[in-house]
Amino acid sequence: MKISQKVMKETKIKYQCPKCKEGAIDYFEDRLHCRSCSQEYEFRRGVPILDVGDRNNEYVCDNFDSEQRDTECQPFYKVSPHSGAIGVDNPDRFLDEVEQRGWRPALENLWGAGSAGLLRAVAPNRVAWKYLLEIDRSWKALDIGAGTGGLSCRLAEECSVVALDKSWCDAVFIHLRAQQDRLSRLEAIVAEATYLPFESNQFDLTTMIGSLEWIPTTWPQNHPRQTQLQALREIYRVLKPNGKLFLGIENRLYLGYFLGIKEPHTNLKYISLMDKEKAEILSQDLRGQPYLEVTYSKDEYIELLNEAGFDNIQAFWLYPDYSTPHYIIPLEKGNIIKYFIEERLNPWDFKGIRSSLFPFYRLLDPLELNNHVEFYGFIARKSNDG
Ligand SMILES: [Zn+2]
Repeated sequence: MKISQKVMKETKIKYQCPKCKEGAIDYFEDRLHCRSCSQEYEFRRGVPILDVGDRNNEYVCDNFDSEQRDTECQPFYKVSPHSGAIGVDNPDRFLDEVEQRGWRPALENLWGAGSAGLLRAVAPNRVAWKYLLEIDRSWKALDIGAGTGGLSCRLAEECSVVALDKSWCDAVFIHLRAQQDRLSRLEAIVAEATYLPFESNQFDLTTMIGSLEWIPTTWPQNHPRQTQLQALREIYRVLKPNGKLFLGIENRLYLGYFLGIKEPHTNLKYISLMDKEKAEILSQDLRGQPYLEVTYSKDEYIELLNEAGFDNIQAFWLYPDYSTPHYIIPLEKGNIIKYFIEERLNPWDFKGIRSSLFPFYRLLDPLELNNHVEFYGFIARKSNDG
């Protein structure tokens, strides 16, 4: 318990009560305390739980038909198996194993040594995009949806990092991993992206890789876009002026979806290509739950980021994916895209249903193709007068 508190002081992050949004947080031996509303937050296995508990409706969109939504909130730790979260039935048993055997053997035992999940946890190129930014030791970064810490732990070698996850098991896993790897500038917390427990204007960088699309699943009674906008506005608030968000996410208009490749969050074909009402019906019919894991096109992401307050947004194509990118291709110039496709894209990487995609990459106008690539990365800045 003491280690987490000590680290919180070391990184000098200023926490703020996510419930009343005004009180500073005081540290005690075994809990945190809001100076303003007296709310107490506990530590569990050394990790502070700074969530807002009850899911209220304060940002439900007015013109949204809430009757279509399952009004009952999902349990706190319920996440999809596709989300990359640890998701074990008995977190304490798993975390005991992490403590006793070490985080990597425990993860190998859970998922297998050659699994995609383990790759995401250990791949050095989780932070390949760092070269786009001028990160230095003084930076404070916030990683939202930190999962197994693949990104947070790499980034903690460069600067101070808060690894935030709504899953307690994942946050404790990262906490233990950081202790075992002696990453003293990393602290893990449980919190909601929609209610960030920090004072404003503190972070130089916020990262969200494969997490914005999952946030609405915690708030099934709310309009998914409003929930995502709420999270982006919170990120904007806690960034310093000139601070940056790096967002990695799927493109709803990915070429492969037109050819019947399943949309990975819902595991349904074509759903991201439909208008909202039809997508909702499809989701209810085929899996009996609302369509919450909403993704967007490039222009729609830029619109969303603008609406949250960001300007100066750069878009990139992350290839082969956003978790472990080998190439980061700026999208504003057709000749750069053309160079990548002609000289770097390997037809042998296109297997199965994807093999029929390759000719389209070669033949489409690059400035049209950039609307249909699979994964985007966005760098969005908070302006100096933000
Ligand atoms: Zn408070």
